[in-house]
Amino acid sequence: MAKKNNNGSFCSFCGRSDKEVNMLISGLSADICDSCAEQAYQIIKESLDQKSKSAFGIDKNQLPDPKSIKEYLDGYIIGQDNAKRYLAVAVYNHYKRLLQGKDDDIEIEKSNIILVGPTGTGKTLLARTIAKLLHVPFAIVDATVLTEAGYVGEDIESILTRLLQASDYDVAAAERGIVFIDEIDKIARKGDNPSITRDVSGEGVQQGLLKLLEGSIVNVPPQGGRKHPDQKMIAVDTKNILFICGGAFDGIERKIAQRLNTMVVGYASSKNNARVDRENLLQYVAPQDLKSYGLIPEIIGRLPILTYLDALDRSALRRILTEPKNSIIRQYIKLFKMDNVTLTFDEDVYEYIVDKAIEYKLGARGLRSIVETIMMDAMFTIPSTKQEELHVTKEYAVTQLESSQLIRLKNSQ
Ligand code: ADP
Repeated sequence: MAKKNNNGSFCSFCGRSDKEVNMLISGLSADICDSCAEQAYQIIKESLDQKSKSAFGIDKNQLPDPKSIKEYLDGYIIGQDNAKRYLAVAVYNHYKRLLQGKDDDIEIEKSNIILVGPTGTGKTLLARTIAKLLHVPFAIVDATVLTEAGYVGEDIESILTRLLQASDYDVAAAERGIVFIDEIDKIARKGDNPSITRDVSGEGVQQGLLKLLEGSIVNVPPQGGRKHPDQKMIAVDTKNILFICGGAFDGIERKIAQRLNTMVVGYASSKNNARVDRENLLQYVAPQDLKSYGLIPEIIGRLPILTYLDALDRSALRRILTEPKNSIIRQYIKLFKMDNVTLTFDEDVYEYIVDKAIEYKLGARGLRSIVETIMMDAMFTIPSTKQEELHVTKEYAVTQLESSQLIRLKNSQ
């Protein structure tokens, strides 16, 4: 029975009376107050979370398999099947690695990734989407701003500052995050003889990156920028951080072609030659090509997963416009919906937008600026009217775009 005396009921856990608490829940032989019930709930939740998660905070049961990772990526990224498959497997293995027991004899090695493909084909989008799926901190850094310590530019450690900022300075979370290093090709060694002038933004940076990629404890300046002696550093272990590097590697096709040509000279060469798809050489990219391009072998060794992205053709651009879950068109429909306006497009408007993106050589990035320009006037005027529908015809799109700055932009090229 609940404890009761002349003064009323009491919580059987903290002993406070019903007058001192917001609510008292009565059971058969005990009572519990609202704050004790809440505490009990927290204790149960923490203990259950602990059981299902490893020390890295990853839920074993919820870890998606490579196929479902790819399916998830398919929802947001058009094409790029090869890169998606590699990425799905790499990420899956990476997390298996995190889940492995400490005393295992067989240690699974880190699987950092390098994506080679023309600019604007979805490299950053792939990395960002993976990070979203895994609920881990994600940071994008541009390799071009990095320089060797002591030179103008950013120290290599600033990469980890970004990750710390993305995780609200939760070091444990940052230590299992994902870093996307963009434009890795821009830190290629300049020329074959590095001793003539010191290559502080090329080979020097590559050397500096090594320790980050392989996994070590790095002292990170919390606010980024240059290190100075009295700044308090945060130690970050990079062992479990997944690095995804991306680069356009302009002209690497020549290196690939050279390698393929030497390879196929001699016996059975004509047979092999016939099978090489000269239009899309990037699909044959191999670690040696990255080396000929100017990445040092140690870096290549620490980026064991190499895959490529296809250039986006007309049909890919058309699909990007409407198919991804957060496609540009869907975003605009949502924007208008928030003002209770139903936005619709004629099919040939999409074709027109794609034509313009190709004409301006803007690729997938250009699709957004073109749609933005077409919708600008409507976005300005409609919120102050009672209009409930907007149907965009090709004629409307052409008028809007032609009277816009984009045309001036094009003419000034
Ligand atoms: P990069 O390869 O230069 O890193 P991004 O991933 O930043 O290119 O792509 C730029 C933008 O173009 C993305 O934000 C996205 O809107 C669009 N985009 C590029 N490629 C694709 C793709 N394969 N599928 C869907 N959208 C894409």
